[in-house]
Amino acid sequence: MGIWKKVAVTSLGVMLFLGGYIFIQMHKLTVEKVTDDLHVLYGLGGNVGVLGTSKGTVIIDSMTLHYQGERIKQVAEKLTGTPVIMIINTHYHLDHTHGNPAFDVGTRVVATNRTRNHLEQTDMAYFAGAEALMPNETFDDVMDFNLGNKTLRLMHPGRGHTDGDLVVLMVEDKTIHTGDLYFYHHYPNIDLEAGGSVQAWSSSIDQIMQLDFDHVIPGHGPVTGRQGLKQFQAFMVQLAAIGKWALKEGISLEDTLASDRLTEDKGYMPLKLIVPIGLNREFVLKRAWQETHGQFELRH
Ligand SMILES: [Zn+2]
Repeated sequence: MGIWKKVAVTSLGVMLFLGGYIFIQMHKLTVEKVTDDLHVLYGLGGNVGVLGTSKGTVIIDSMTLHYQGERIKQVAEKLTGTPVIMIINTHYHLDHTHGNPAFDVGTRVVATNRTRNHLEQTDMAYFAGAEALMPNETFDDVMDFNLGNKTLRLMHPGRGHTDGDLVVLMVEDKTIHTGDLYFYHHYPNIDLEAGGSVQAWSSSIDQIMQLDFDHVIPGHGPVTGRQGLKQFQAFMVQLAAIGKWALKEGISLEDTLASDRLTEDKGYMPLKLIVPIGLNREFVLKRAWQETHGQFELRH
């Protein structure tokens, strides 16, 4: 076999392998029980919370693909024995919202007004024909829901990952779902263009810490206690300080990336998503630098 033929056969093999890998990841949903009425589904995309209430099932986020939305619906309804009546979207990113169209028209879809605006600005093509499954109950700061035996408190604690993220407190289950305001041991995305902020992130976590909870479902990574969120806050505090230091001392982006000031990221891993956008150490340092230097364009 000629060398080019060999290369072609090898790349075809690699492509089939990668295709197969993505196909398997798409289909894989791992279920973990948090309390009797609350489960987490892990898969390719943001973590999904599934809460059974006496009024029906609530899911928090819907992953990346229509097909995943169908699977989430099936698995959630099997776990709780009741139909999904409400989807909560923690923020607008596609790995948390693109499963929405797989749910029944008439499902309540709750998010902040800013999340709805971001979807309208960036994602109308995807939701064409499924506008009913975009957020249809929205709020700015706090919203409470009483669903029979369960109480939910939804709160926008401030800017961080975007300017519209919400956190869900499941009162009786003493658990919060933070969306992407908390990544456990993964480098987070910081969406400056959507009003995200390294500088503001820590005070948003202070707001979250005031809630009464024992378990935390992060946007990505396994369920933790309060301590995991505290550690992530320390990482954010350090990252914000690096951004300010670089501005004050006139440190170039290149030298900021080369500095060893970020130490709170021990054990952090780059995040695996369908589209590799490189959520790694370099990315978070770059975003911290860009924010303090005004080197980004806010989308209005
Ligand atoms: Zn996100």
